Amino acid sequence: MAFKDVLGNERAKKILKIALYRNRIPNSMLFCGPKGIGKKDVAMVVAKAMNCLNENDDACETCMNCRAISGGKFPDVLEMQPENNVIKIDHMRLLKQTAYLRPMIGKKRVFIVEDAEKMTEEASNSLLKVLEEPPFFSHIILLTSCPHMILSTITSRCQVLTFSPISKEAIQECLINRGYEREKAQLISLIVRGNYKQALDVDWEDIRAKRKNVWQLLLCLLKKENVALYFQSFFASRRQLKEELEQTLEILSSFCRDLLVIKEKGDIRYLINMDYLDEFQKIERFITREQALDYNYIIDEALDGLRKNLNPNVLVNALFSNFMEFRNV
Ligand SMILES: [Zn+2]
Repeated sequence: MAFKDVLGNERAKKILKIALYRNRIPNSMLFCGPKGIGKKDVAMVVAKAMNCLNENDDACETCMNCRAISGGKFPDVLEMQPENNVIKIDHMRLLKQTAYLRPMIGKKRVFIVEDAEKMTEEASNSLLKVLEEPPFFSHIILLTSCPHMILSTITSRCQVLTFSPISKEAIQECLINRGYEREKAQLISLIVRGNYKQALDVDWEDIRAKRKNVWQLLLCLLKKENVALYFQSFFASRRQLKEELEQTLEILSSFCRDLLVIKEKGDIRYLINMDYLDEFQKIERFITREQALDYNYIIDEALDGLRKNLNPNVLVNALFSNFMEFRNV
């Protein structure tokens, strides 16, 4: 994988490419951003570019070093992950000791620490000195999706680079290029919320089951039936509440968007949930165009609130009461 193979994050890639070209890659870096958007891929490209025998600002992918790094068989590039959900001081001691040794076969030593927020306080503290004064031949790249959980003493010693979720359009295009049908690609790209990695290993059967549930939820909402039970079980059983609620609302939003396309007599080829066409046709005569517009507005408002970290319980309650204000279907 070279820079061109990493989806999105053009700004971050450009900054790194220029730094590589000038041979000015910082020795201590912190890559921040949600999971599944390519932070690790970019870190690997940087590690390869610094050791590549053919290029200096990218990975050529053909030289001995690039291939060994891709295969995880390059002694100067070390990847570290939490063990049992924690990065202990022993890991960091190993990193520290190795960082002061000159590279064995490459030009630079690179340490890539995934989920760096899982470092214990001890582990973090043991890393401070090497982050502050690393030998010129060693580079430490910390990756995190929770930058607020990283000690400020660590953050202040690193060059921080922020990565953004990949756009829905980019993920969709990429899935289509990989042979996905357009509707599937569109739906997956909506649901994964910028997480490209997740898009690639989404379980389609799981999505189908979720959509079935959300369709029932929509029918209940439209009929003003009590949906409290649905959400009670939802709130009780979900570990990643915010993410799952966001996914539910994204699916709900995709149904309401399709409903609006139908109400506006739009081209049904643009439906996201084409396989629900019959279902849409059964309910569409009970809903006015204005109502369909309002549903979209209400759900988008809830999604927006969720992204601003408003309380999910409060948001769901507001969503119900907004739906309840509509005329019976
Ligand atoms: Zn190379």
